[in-house]
Amino acid sequence: MSSPVDARRPTAPDPDRIGEKPDAAGRFGAYGGRYAPEALMAALTELEAAYRRARADATFGAELATLLRDRVGRPTRLHRVPGFERVLGVPGVRVYLKREDMAHTGAYKINNALGQGLLAKRMGKTRVIAETGAGQHGVAVASVRAMLGLSCVVYMGEHDMRRQSLTVAHMRALGAEVRGVRAGGGKVKGAVSEAVRDWVSATDTSHFLFGTVTGPAPYPAMVRDFQAVIGVEARRQLLAAEGRLPDRVVACVGGGSNALGLFHAFLGDPEVALIGVEAAGRGIETGQHAATCTAGAPGELDGSFSYLLQDADGQVSRTHSIAAGLDYPAVGPEHGYLKDRGRAVYHAVTDATALRGFQALSHAEGIVPALESAHAVGYLMECAQRGELPPRALVLLGLSGRGDKDLGIASVSLHEA
Ligand SMILES: *Cc1c(COP(=O)(O)O)cnc(C)c1O
Repeated sequence: MSSPVDARRPTAPDPDRIGEKPDAAGRFGAYGGRYAPEALMAALTELEAAYRRARADATFGAELATLLRDRVGRPTRLHRVPGFERVLGVPGVRVYLKREDMAHTGAYKINNALGQGLLAKRMGKTRVIAETGAGQHGVAVASVRAMLGLSCVVYMGEHDMRRQSLTVAHMRALGAEVRGVRAGGGKVKGAVSEAVRDWVSATDTSHFLFGTVTGPAPYPAMVRDFQAVIGVEARRQLLAAEGRLPDRVVACVGGGSNALGLFHAFLGDPEVALIGVEAAGRGIETGQHAATCTAGAPGELDGSFSYLLQDADGQVSRTHSIAAGLDYPAVGPEHGYLKDRGRAVYHAVTDATALRGFQALSHAEGIVPALESAHAVGYLMECAQRGELPPRALVLLGLSGRGDKDLGIASVSLHEA
């Protein structure tokens, strides 16, 4: 478990290292599993077997690595940010950004979309189905649709479609069919139900391309594996630049996929602190937040057992975050496992702190972060302010995406503040 990763290892995820969990039942300790309707069990079993075969096949890995290089632009850059280090004001602190915002389509989500798209083709599927809330996953899937010559339907809540009209136009420009869903308040919950219904009726031709590390097995482990390229690259790049491992690795957590992708290469390095940053929204005490690991309790949602935000009656809570990608009441089962074992820790920062992070990184470095990523940036600023960041700390910060999509909401919020 603690065998070090070879610093020169190629950038494809390493199946041996990341295959420790889940167990055969898709469980990470007490979490995970496969709570799905009977009608989906056969499709999930088929998917799991196909994924296992693909992972064992070097041609699949090589094909994916080539596409990640040529079409996504991997490896993404890793570099220091001296201007932001000055903002932190901690003597000798060194901060490296892993620039997933520079991946094609502006975020890390394309790593998983491409991996699953390629798998779908291998399985002989001609069509991918996706659901999207904020729209970033939909854009990644729609891009992959075009690259791989698949057809694609994206389900999206009607309310979300109105809020994200530019994203809808983006997906349509890429050749995806976007279907609005009124049920479930016009938000992502209804879109998930419709997407699953579509899949049940079309499993022979279609793959359900799920976007994060939640849901029934095999999705949590499969999505993690496709995102693990982030941490494998970052570990190698940081060792080359600094000759040592980071003291802290920090990433934002919605469903938890970019964080797991970054963390995984460091799981066997106990001296590296892994820190997930959730959305405290308007403050944990207001109940208007999405801080699942921080304030939630174990329960079952969308096919998996993990930490959830639920009220006293066990109803799933309404969540709030200024960052649409963090506005989700559950977290992937592996995060529950890492939290309970103490291998990763979870903190939450408010909308206001994320906005400070957004502004600071933009001003100091000319890098406009996604509001999701800005939670990790703001968290580091809070640590520094509270004197909790030791001098000469070496920090690896995952920048999950670019903030162009958030300029409207950020500028309004910053003016109101
Ligand atoms: C979707 C998204 C997230 C949150 O999702 P995770 O599964 O927690 O990674 C974070 N940042 C960006 C830019 C996103 O698009």
